[in-house]
Amino acid sequence: MGAINCIGILTSGGDAPGMNAAIRAVTRAAIFNGFEVKGIYRGYRGLITGEIKPFKTENVSNIIQQGGTILKTARCQEFQTAEGRRQAYETLQREGIDALVVIGGDGSLTGARIFAQEYDYPIIGLPGTIDNDLYGTDLTIGYDTALNTIMEAVDKIRDTASSHERLFFIEVMGRDAGFLALNGALATGCEAAIIPEISTEIDQLKELVENGFRKSKNSSIVLVAESPHTGGAMQLAERVKNEYPQYDVRVTILGHIQRGGSPSAQDRILASRLGAAAIDALLDGQRNVMVGIRNDEIVYVPFSRAIKFDKPINRELLNTLRRLSI
Ligand code: ADP
Repeated sequence: MGAINCIGILTSGGDAPGMNAAIRAVTRAAIFNGFEVKGIYRGYRGLITGEIKPFKTENVSNIIQQGGTILKTARCQEFQTAEGRRQAYETLQREGIDALVVIGGDGSLTGARIFAQEYDYPIIGLPGTIDNDLYGTDLTIGYDTALNTIMEAVDKIRDTASSHERLFFIEVMGRDAGFLALNGALATGCEAAIIPEISTEIDQLKELVENGFRKSKNSSIVLVAESPHTGGAMQLAERVKNEYPQYDVRVTILGHIQRGGSPSAQDRILASRLGAAAIDALLDGQRNVMVGIRNDEIVYVPFSRAIKFDKPINRELLNTLRRLSI
């Protein structure tokens, strides 16, 4: 493995608030340690097409508070082919980029892992996803901001739900993970969260209705994680209309509002710590690891673990929600 002089950064897959704070941290920590930095635009697509520009400290000024990603992001089919990855490798060679920092979710780190193995190329991953679904890190960049966005939206829906005495199903993002739904429900005093992690164990809707929810309440809100396992809010609402027609049901799908906005303090701090730690990881000779945080300590998680294992939901949260929603 040759010496590392120049580090490339890219953001890939679903965008998440705090990605800019991570780009800033990686760039500044790299320059602080004497590396050159290049920004790669539009994720793996920019690696293939060569959309790359040198980054100085001023390229990342005034972005810590901005949502989205100044490097743009994309989904790139070609990178899933050996030919696409070969072109990406050629670009890296041509540009003199010796190592990569990839900020993204499960898919992006899967691509990073395959590429790193194929070309024996050093890559450090940062968990950038609102879904919080990467194993080995307590938190991912963007999750806290999305949770706060959900909290604000649900508080508003609560006002109208209670005025009309309605049952609301609110669908939130999370891919196949229920962290946003479960913690969003706890934060807003929802009656329940329907999450994929337990959808095969019990019929959550049946349990909800049979436990007599809404008996003494003038509104009920249930957060539903978008997932084929839960069926999503629309499908659940249809079921209620058919099986329990006494309820006046409404559905709200929060959608892309959950990805936007200025990152929370927690996300900015997390992104800054993880971004700086990505450079420490390269200096330590680490390769092909995701930098994460556990019990407030920086950890290195091999890609193989971060993407392979499902992060378990904390059952205590589920239990607390059940006990408090009576
Ligand atoms: P996220 O990183 O948010 O989970 P995606 O799942 O869309 O987002 O993945 C982002 C990109 O990562 C894909 O468009 C593709 O370029 C790359 N990627 C995902 N899976 C693979 C794979 N198995 N092999 C190579 N590249 C992949």
